[in-house]
Amino acid sequence: MRYRSLGQSGLIVSELGLGCNNLGGRIDNAQSARLVDAALDLGVTLFDVADVYGRRDAHAGASEEALGAALCGKRDKAVIATKFGMSMISGGDDAGNASGASRRYIMQAVEASLRRLRTDRIDLYQLHCPDPRTPLDETLHALNDLIRAGKIRYAGVSNLPAWQVVDACHIARRDRLAGIISCQDEFSLLERSARTDLLPALRQFGLGLLPYFPLASGMLTGKYRRDSSPPVGSRLAAWTYLQDRYRDPTVWTLIEALAGLAQRHECSLADLAFGWLLRHETVASVIAGATSETQMRDNARSCMLETSDDLDAELKTMLAAHEAKS
Ligand code: NAP
Repeated sequence: MRYRSLGQSGLIVSELGLGCNNLGGRIDNAQSARLVDAALDLGVTLFDVADVYGRRDAHAGASEEALGAALCGKRDKAVIATKFGMSMISGGDDAGNASGASRRYIMQAVEASLRRLRTDRIDLYQLHCPDPRTPLDETLHALNDLIRAGKIRYAGVSNLPAWQVVDACHIARRDRLAGIISCQDEFSLLERSARTDLLPALRQFGLGLLPYFPLASGMLTGKYRRDSSPPVGSRLAAWTYLQDRYRDPTVWTLIEALAGLAQRHECSLADLAFGWLLRHETVASVIAGATSETQMRDNARSCMLETSDDLDAELKTMLAAHEAKS
């Protein structure tokens, strides 16, 4: 495994991270523990989870619980990244008791995550999504206080537009706060819009990117076919709401072109997906989700395989041609 700094911070993370939104939900606690062990054995250090993952019976938190149980006695080997802000109760939270980025809620949410994760500190605590009701200053000051109290080591954000990321960096400078070190946003061969505004902002402020849906929920592993139903047991068979975004024929045209390119260069579609992401220097770790040890091992192998300059040049031309057409 290779390791990178998360932005310009001192936090070192493995190039392959484990996205933990399957833990304690689509896979049970025993399988989650085997997956975490396999990841640790491969040298993976970054485990990305969120308080809302693994919703069961109307309440969230099962993925943090599964990760906490799996890391018992192994906590020091892991960099735990979790998130707060999305509603912990289904059906919304108008009263602001179970969601958001207010000081009041953050102080409550962090204690709950620490409990579920069975730890006394979170390495990276991320705001999961913008909270239009809370000034960013309030959120950043609360996160700074958590760093000073030793409950979290670093702070990050997710799903914020580039202008808000820049705003956060300016507020942190102005108020001499620890600020944020990372952004977590959708970024993959199929969703490249972060390149327009977000990536330049990250470079300017020395932040690291943790790309989510790096495999487009498995679409970039080659296991789905244009005219067939998703295989039984796969994510897109289980989470049918995710299927819609991939029904677009132009998406399939790109996937098939990418698969052809991979074949010509004797690698897999997943190798291409990981290699392209890791060629971006702002990308610190590819936090791919997995449901089995085999997937974990395959993903580690893909991460280790550096794509050639020739392949990268061909890939860039292909993506540019696809963008011009769509
Ligand atoms: P992903 O990494 O694009 O896809 C994960 C899925 O791909 C797995 O569940 C598995 O599908 C399949 N897969 C992985 N490796 C495979 C392999 N080698 N061969 C075949 N199939 C393979 O999507 P994701 O897990 O949703 O995203 C990654 C992480 O990003 C999440 O776990 C979460 O931590 C984070 N995330 C964050 C946000 C946010 O708003 N900040 C949103 C989404 C996700 P099967 O389940 O079919 O086996």
